[in-house]
Amino acid sequence: MSNRPSPVLIHLSFRTASTAVFVVFTARLAAKSIRELRARGIVGTLKDLYNFSVRKFFRFMMTLPGISEKVNAELNKTLTRMEEDMVPRGPGIKRYLELPREGWTDEQVMSELHELANMKHSRWEEGKVSGAVYHGGEDILKLQTEAYGMFSVANQLHPDVFPGVRKMEAEVVAMVLRMYNAPESGVGTSTSGGTESLLMACLAAKMKGRYEKGITEPEIVAPVTIHAGFDKAAYYFGIKLRHVPLDPVTYEVDLNAVNRLVNSNTVLIAGSAPNFPHGVIDDIEGLSKIALKHNIPLHVDACLGSFVVPFMEIVYNEIDPTVTVPLFDFRVKGVTSISCDTHKYGFAPKGSSVIMYRDAKLRRYQYFLATDWSGGVYASPTMAGSRPGALMAGCWASLMRIGENGYIESCRNIVSAARRIRLAIQNEFRSIYVLGQPIGSVVAFSSDSLNVYDIADLLLKKGWHLSALQNPAAIHIACTRLTVTSAAELVSDLREVVAQVEENTTAGEKTQQGDTAMLYGVAGSISTNGVVDELAIGFLDNLYKV
Ligand SMILES: *Cc1c(COP(=O)(O)O)cnc(C)c1O
Repeated sequence: MSNRPSPVLIHLSFRTASTAVFVVFTARLAAKSIRELRARGIVGTLKDLYNFSVRKFFRFMMTLPGISEKVNAELNKTLTRMEEDMVPRGPGIKRYLELPREGWTDEQVMSELHELANMKHSRWEEGKVSGAVYHGGEDILKLQTEAYGMFSVANQLHPDVFPGVRKMEAEVVAMVLRMYNAPESGVGTSTSGGTESLLMACLAAKMKGRYEKGITEPEIVAPVTIHAGFDKAAYYFGIKLRHVPLDPVTYEVDLNAVNRLVNSNTVLIAGSAPNFPHGVIDDIEGLSKIALKHNIPLHVDACLGSFVVPFMEIVYNEIDPTVTVPLFDFRVKGVTSISCDTHKYGFAPKGSSVIMYRDAKLRRYQYFLATDWSGGVYASPTMAGSRPGALMAGCWASLMRIGENGYIESCRNIVSAARRIRLAIQNEFRSIYVLGQPIGSVVAFSSDSLNVYDIADLLLKKGWHLSALQNPAAIHIACTRLTVTSAAELVSDLREVVAQVEENTTAGEKTQQGDTAMLYGVAGSISTNGVVDELAIGFLDNLYKV
């Protein structure tokens, strides 16, 4: 007798298997839909669907003959203008498109470098640029350059060859852990900047979720104001980022919404101290309660807070004891990781940040190992393989040179400057208002009656490079050591500019739209939003045009 199953049996078992697959598939889909519904509510889900369809519709419209030619013509005009702005060309401009056959002399190289350094640029030196250059003092630059020079051959990939750099990196991480009140178990690594620190925090959380909870469709819950580095992490690592809306009055994260958005796939909750757009510190203690309740890691993005936010308690005790600085660091039980940019208010050279963890177990998930590689046993703590030791030397030198009292003094000056701007806007202006109650280095403002981007464009004419924000439309300044002395000038320029926009608005005149107003006009409209992608891609392409 044959022990093969009859065709009928095979058919039946096939049916059972496919039914099982179907059931599992449907159950997954249902679970997913329920998660979405719970996260966004019925109205929210319908709104999302509506916006999605309208966007799709307009993107489709733009591909239609007749319309697409018009859109492309306009687009190309803007792209060409942007290229002319970014890529200098003309008879006076020398371009080098291949290696010089014979190497130049030192003098030739230096002379060309001087020309490159002196190309026409936004004048950060006058303290009129938001963020970007945080210290800019000649003294510290000189010291950093010397430190670079001594270690320009160094590579952190080879601690045996460069033991001094390994020691400096470990010490920088230890000092920053101390500033953020890490427990004994606290650990960290240095990275190339804030974005890499965020990427590492997200990767570690994703891997923890996978190995400890078996999560295969990881999600992160973070306020809409969280840095775009989280979107980048989501894009790179296949994570879904669920944005939490803000309270429309306080501009603080809506904790009820966080509760709705957290589900069994959540691998990380995140908040900022403070956030980039509005400079508001999220309710980290509130987020911590939710994180602890669900046993989910909590990241605090203090990339911007860096070497200002840890000293704000001391500074506010002096300048205004009525202000309580909320807790944001490892003293809050649920906080499992914190990112801090040494290259922002730590005044280290660009390309430097620290990612910290409450314990070594979580840090281990960001490590990369290839122990059976034919090139040898390979292990690397962060994204890069080779890492520039010169930058670490520059960072260590800056921290040691400035010291705790130096940072407290810079915190006092920077926070006081931002406070002067904030109080002036709150007390002296009727048509613009500050978003939330920022107590750190950043002040964002908006307007209900005026186009705030027109204000940004007119300020630009006076040499001010502030940052444009959207959703809601606003602009902000991140005060630095360089803007401390120009805060009063900003307020008086703002007075003039706002008066001018008010006048134009009352007169019903269409202000000649500047670049900011134009770009965000296009970005803010659901019908033209697709065009912004093309502009952004054009911008990136321009970076590599010679
Ligand atoms: C600047 C910043 C970052 C990271 O920026 P990098 O440019 O990569 O250093 C992250 N979060 C916040 C809040 C920031 O302001």
